[in-house]
Amino acid sequence: MSRPVRVRFAPSPTGPLHIGGVRTALYNYLFARKHKGTMILRIEDTDQNRFVPGAESYIIEALKWVGIEIDEGPENGGPHAPYRQSERKGMYAQYAYDLVERGYAYYAFDTEEDLEQMRKRLEASQMQPAYDGTSRMSMKNSLTLPADDVKARLESGAPYVIRIKLPRKEEIRFHDSIRGWVTVNSAQLDDKVLLKSDGMPTYHLANVVDDYLMGISHVIRGEEWLPSAPLHVMLYRYLGWEEVMPVFAHLPLLLKPEGNGKLSKRDGDRLGFPVFPLQWTDPKTGEVSSGYRESGYFPEAVANMLALLGWHPSDNRELFSMDELIEAFSLEKVSKSGAKFDVQKAFWFNQQYLQQKTAAEVVAVIRPLVNEAQYDVSDEYLEQVVGLMREKVQFANDIIREGTYFFVAPDSYDSDVIAKKWKPETTGHIDGIRQKFAGLNPQSAAMDFENAFKACCEESGVKSGELLQPLRLAVSGKGAGAPIWEMMALIGRDFITARLENAVKKISFS
Ligand code: GLU
Repeated sequence: MSRPVRVRFAPSPTGPLHIGGVRTALYNYLFARKHKGTMILRIEDTDQNRFVPGAESYIIEALKWVGIEIDEGPENGGPHAPYRQSERKGMYAQYAYDLVERGYAYYAFDTEEDLEQMRKRLEASQMQPAYDGTSRMSMKNSLTLPADDVKARLESGAPYVIRIKLPRKEEIRFHDSIRGWVTVNSAQLDDKVLLKSDGMPTYHLANVVDDYLMGISHVIRGEEWLPSAPLHVMLYRYLGWEEVMPVFAHLPLLLKPEGNGKLSKRDGDRLGFPVFPLQWTDPKTGEVSSGYRESGYFPEAVANMLALLGWHPSDNRELFSMDELIEAFSLEKVSKSGAKFDVQKAFWFNQQYLQQKTAAEVVAVIRPLVNEAQYDVSDEYLEQVVGLMREKVQFANDIIREGTYFFVAPDSYDSDVIAKKWKPETTGHIDGIRQKFAGLNPQSAAMDFENAFKACCEESGVKSGELLQPLRLAVSGKGAGAPIWEMMALIGRDFITARLENAVKKISFS
């Protein structure tokens, strides 16, 4: 690779960044870091009609959260600043006029009605309703109108757009790192608008001009942009930049879990997983969409999961830190076919990272929820709770949600467990255990509780298996959970005996 690697993530701030967009940013980032290149963030906000307040800061925050570092962008600047297209407005038009001058583009004066009529006419004769090599000759443009008419219109300030003049029938061929050679006939394409009547560039012009000016070496973007690539190739050719045209890599789509169609927000709502990295509140409707961050995912788990949705490492390894991803990543191993989103796998990744974290790191994550619930406990206590619960849950916050009994006495008892395990004589046995526990040292360890329990069972001639679950129920309200003796030691003798006393009263009368 002779050129320095410079890649860009170029979102339009039209709403929250979809998780598929985060994956595009991630692949760009991995590629940049792998090749000691530069990662650029360019905000493509030329379409003011689609501008959504808050979307840009959302994008920046989301990338940071996932661990994608930006080298050049609207926040950190760089040699090609500004990195927001709305602030580069003045740069694009000259290229469109240059193309007109050299015969590769033309002025088009058609009104909305003219265009509508053209579409109807072509549809009626079963033809593609496009402004293209054939239809342009029957429209109002600088190719069909007399030169003095064109001049007069321009001088009078009549509205016009500039359209690219594509060859009528020509094979456009380019190489895509993921798809190999792609060939499209220009007859399939239309003469896209490059400069709009308000003087603003369209996506195509601004995107190509900026990629050129910013020295972009590789364009890594979603498959939905593949149909635009031949047009971009023609722009590079017409603008005389073919030599430095970036390498293209169009990433496969992120599909619904069932595999039919693109993953949408509705799939997330339906199946209970976020499709956005961070929670998003729609500024117009106030509608709140859930985010991975707020749902309790670790950013490392999200990055790891996304990396594997479409890219396959040489071995079957699944767990990668960001540095390991950088080391292993290559565009050649990105698949052509769409990647199905797998909800269970997302849970699994999060669980793996939960196991890897130190207890203190997990405490930092769950602390806000603990405070919100007004549980008055120290970090040391929480670390021990984490130690006992982390293997039982997939999300850090579930440690608190499912382990309420570490913080408060149960106010209800699982009725299924009562029905199955609580016999008339159980009440007396549990009360016997309470008395035994009351004789223990207040700082008793797990083993002390266990031994006291075993002694009780022996004395009363009951199998321990019959009392173990009722005992857990009396202490926690649940039939399953953290290792029972360690849990008791942590909660402490006094609380345990008080809970048993309460349970004996409540359960026997229920
Ligand atoms: N602004 C385009 C988008 O929103 C960028 C596409 C590209 O990367 O060329 O996805």
